[in-house]
Amino acid sequence: MNNYIIHNAQYVVCVDEKNQILEGATIVIRNGLISQINPPQIPTGSEYEHFDAKEHLVMPGLVNTHAHLAMALLRGWAEGVNLDGFLELVWAAEGAIMDAPTCALGTELGAGEALLSGTTTVLDMYLHPEVTHQAAIGVGLRHVTGPIFFDFPGLDGMEWDDRIAFARSWPALHKALGGPWTPLFLMPHSVYTDSEAHLKEVAELAKEFGARIHLHLSETEAENSMSLKTHGRTPTQVILDAGILDVPTTYGHGVYLSEQDVRTTAKHGASVAHCPGSNLKLGNGIANIQAYQEAGIAVGLGTDSCSSSNDLDMWSVLRLTAQLFTFTHKPKDLDLSMIIRAATIEGARAIGLSEVVGSIEIGKEADLIAISLNALHLTPIHNVLALLVFAAGRSDVSDVWVSGERVVTTHRLTKIDPGELRRRILDRASALDSIR
Ligand SMILES: [Zn+2]
Repeated sequence: MNNYIIHNAQYVVCVDEKNQILEGATIVIRNGLISQINPPQIPTGSEYEHFDAKEHLVMPGLVNTHAHLAMALLRGWAEGVNLDGFLELVWAAEGAIMDAPTCALGTELGAGEALLSGTTTVLDMYLHPEVTHQAAIGVGLRHVTGPIFFDFPGLDGMEWDDRIAFARSWPALHKALGGPWTPLFLMPHSVYTDSEAHLKEVAELAKEFGARIHLHLSETEAENSMSLKTHGRTPTQVILDAGILDVPTTYGHGVYLSEQDVRTTAKHGASVAHCPGSNLKLGNGIANIQAYQEAGIAVGLGTDSCSSSNDLDMWSVLRLTAQLFTFTHKPKDLDLSMIIRAATIEGARAIGLSEVVGSIEIGKEADLIAISLNALHLTPIHNVLALLVFAAGRSDVSDVWVSGERVVTTHRLTKIDPGELRRRILDRASALDSIR
């Protein structure tokens, strides 16, 4: 059972309420939980495995609050396009290859990339969650997903009634699949792919299950204009009227929220997954996350898919978030701990996991990462948080634990063979050659 002692870390960035940074600290993991921090006596039982964290920084694993992991298979497929052009190209490629086994394969790829870069939790929206969830758990990720809904049949060939029937089976299926604990989610794709009546149906179902909701919302100005034209209301007002906001909801993007939308979002405890890499690459704009945070909205960070931002590297998202902040506000107003918190505990809060992960505190599950500090580009250290936000990168993540299980050991995945996975990926991706 996952028992570990992480000895003598040069730094432990706790991301607790006081934003403590401990030096020369030891963390004890028992049955997958953080049981002691700097205990007066280090346990000696043979049930413990040991990790010498000398010249390492230990912090909570990163939480990616908006991704489509399986689309790692389409990395670089849709370049030089805006969101409309992007969707057209991507939907064609998905139509060609994304059957259920391929969704699982792409998710394995995405989960492996995420873990190796220090991301331990991903909120993942994609087709065939029954197989993607299993694939991601197999690699060791805390994988948060659920049934996806759109009005049209889609690649999975499901009509609306099939989607509802599948969603009804999801709580039992989710439980049976096991893996690190995650909340139940239902995922209507967006206001522009789901009618208001269908959104209402999903909201009712979520209330019945006690599930949370994840959807794309106000990603572009065009989406808002269309919503105003079609519904006479902003996307936020549409989901409010549909009852979606009666359950805890996470918006993917939320770039264009009006002042009224921000008030509504805050009042209903909904949260925002900020995806600056995707938003900039597709020319969509910059979300004013400071205004959201000031209103009390939990803002997490996300990569979006590998077709819109090309990788699942949360470190580049951290850095971009900070740089956009100093560009749109003033450098002196940048609170580096806010960036680290958005990537960890606030991300966890945004998706209903803040009691479980997101900080290093006794009683929480041990989703931890170790960053090797002996690289030249991390030397010297004058400011630990600035090092993490502006200098560290994913190749510095050496070891990763999820629920106390060591899923990455010295830069290697422990639960799957990456070489064998890569061969399967290249083989399947070649099926796209004919439509390029
Ligand atoms: Zn997305």
